[in-house]
Amino acid sequence: KGKKQAKASDKAINLTAVLGAGIMGGGIAYQAASKGQPVVMKDINRDALDLGLKEAAKILGKGMQRGKVDATKMASTLNAITPTLEYSTLKDADLVIEAVVENPKVKGMVLKEVEETVADDAIICSNTSTISIDQLAGNLKHPERFCGMHFFNPVHRMPLVEIIRGEKTSDATIKAVVAATLKMGKTPIVVNDCPGFLVNRVLFPYFAGFSKLVLDGADFAKVDKVMEKDFGWPMGPAYLLDVVGMDTADHAAGVMADGIPERMQKIGNDPVTIQFNAERLGQKNGKGFYEYG
Ligand code: NAD
Repeated sequence: KGKKQAKASDKAINLTAVLGAGIMGGGIAYQAASKGQPVVMKDINRDALDLGLKEAAKILGKGMQRGKVDATKMASTLNAITPTLEYSTLKDADLVIEAVVENPKVKGMVLKEVEETVADDAIICSNTSTISIDQLAGNLKHPERFCGMHFFNPVHRMPLVEIIRGEKTSDATIKAVVAATLKMGKTPIVVNDCPGFLVNRVLFPYFAGFSKLVLDGADFAKVDKVMEKDFGWPMGPAYLLDVVGMDTADHAAGVMADGIPERMQKIGNDPVTIQFNAERLGQKNGKGFYEYG
């Protein structure tokens, strides 16, 4: 086993597979392809695959407008992504990144299917924002080859990737995923498995502070203006919540409140939950704190 893992860590990642062609899966597939790496992008839904490819084309189109991408780069990046609905196309993948919906049951089922399909030395990662890596690892026969690989949204703009070490993750797996992250042009940090990992442990108290201000009567757009224009952050909290998605943010806040109740309290009926219940999910469905055309 030791020998096999050592070989796995040294093996170059030649083929990456991404499961789920949503906001994150599509972004991760684009990122790998933009660095010249072939990537298989699998979903259960043909429309999602089309949307994932369209998003990649949109990012490249913007790059062309700014003179940073030429027609050859556009074609080679898009050609590097193979969209598929079939599990069998994953069998040659060296690295599988699961980015399906944030639901432990669905993820568990998908991870089991992945492990049955890929080679013994393939590495399997999850892009989960909140679910415990140890809990997800429970679905696998070989948890030593599994860890979290948490990208941020939008993937092509955000440099950081949190690599989450589960209790059973091997050093060889961490080494290989760190190398794969660097090859994708991103900055890896290795963190332990805990609710919110590192970034969301900082971000969610900030969102909670924003929610409390709004509950106290503050105007969300004014808070955004202060944080963006006056304080100098690239986006204010309300706009950032629209980018993240109210479903993701509401769910993550709940998971963190359950996991570390002494530090994170879920505020009842806060603006994020209200938006979520009103199906104002943010940019993904065109309306959140703001409206999108
Ligand atoms: P999304 O809803 O945009 O996309 C999920 C995709 O998974 C959909 O296209 C859906 O068709 C597909 N899917 C569902 N079941 C599947 C299956 N069995 N096999 C293959 N595909 C399947 O979601 P998202 O925002 O991209 O989030 C995906 C993951 O990334 C979640 O775990 C989320 O927590 C995490 N994440 C999200 C963000 C964010 O800001 N949205 C940031 C970091 C991490």
